Amino acid sequence: MTDTSVTVIGLGPMGHAMANTYLDQGYEVTVWNRTPGKADGLVAHGARRADTVEAALNANDLVVLSLTDYRAVYAILEQAPTALAGRTVANLTSDSPARAREAAGWISARGAVQITGGVQVPPPAIGTPEAMTYYSGPREAIEAHRTDLEVLTGIDYLGEDPGRAALYYQIGIDMFWTGLVGYLHGQAVAQANGISAREFLPHAVKTMDFRYFLEFYAPRIDAGDHKGDVDNLAMGVASLEHVLHTAQEAGVDGSVPAAMLDLFRRGITAGHGQDSLTSLTRLLKP
Ligand code: NDP
Repeated sequence: MTDTSVTVIGLGPMGHAMANTYLDQGYEVTVWNRTPGKADGLVAHGARRADTVEAALNANDLVVLSLTDYRAVYAILEQAPTALAGRTVANLTSDSPARAREAAGWISARGAVQITGGVQVPPPAIGTPEAMTYYSGPREAIEAHRTDLEVLTGIDYLGEDPGRAALYYQIGIDMFWTGLVGYLHGQAVAQANGISAREFLPHAVKTMDFRYFLEFYAPRIDAGDHKGDVDNLAMGVASLEHVLHTAQEAGVDGSVPAAMLDLFRRGITAGHGQDSLTSLTRLLKP
């Protein structure tokens, strides 16, 4: 075992990129994947293939997990529960904050420490200077492995709560999916009207530059100030009806704008017709 050695469990696109990056940086890398063939390229690049989960855990102090969800985490770690003792598990698997907290407890009960991570970049960006990961969990564990973690991405440390990194990650992904589906829906309407995605691209880039709105609304959301001086839900309903009709006229599925229209209409029913669309945060919260 050297100072620069790591185990990577989970060789989807993300785990694969991580193992490759460690190899490029001269690490001794042990890999394990449920489907062993996915390790072939990495082994050719110098990685060691562990035949069992137990061997993978025993190989190194630092174990990076990059899996689809926490069900996969348990499915794998339950194969070798006693081999966890003394390990630091950098769990870079996406799931809910509650599941991240629960897993931190489960891992701790087996003598190991979980660092929760939410990677903010796609696999090709691993190892590049702009890459960042939300981390939370025991500060000492993160500091002890700072150099190893920074081989992959920068560290955005959010405190001791093991659920915090998962929470920040999921909030970001919530916004990401909603925004990207809006983009895809718009491009479907463009295509259905004979406009190519590339032709519309420069207009999409301008329209989806939301920074002004994000910054304008954030203090108002915090202050609970939903006055309709620049926008209101009644206007939003009219606008969304036009969007829905434009999609329907082109034969495009209208379920995405229809879902937003439903939400805006519920805002009006709740008495917010003349309030800003930020009043929807009231409707959405418990
Ligand atoms: P994948 O879903 O492709 O990862 C799949 C990995 O999980 C494979 O190693 C797969 O094994 C394993 N796996 C899934 N279910 C099980 C199971 N029941 N038992 C054992 N192993 C299982 O995801 P990515 O590699 O794309 O991403 C990994 C994590 O990183 C995810 O949590 C993702 O949300 C997060 N992430 C991904 C980004 C991306 O752009 N890809 C960006 C930021 C974060 P097998 O090969 O045998 O199927």
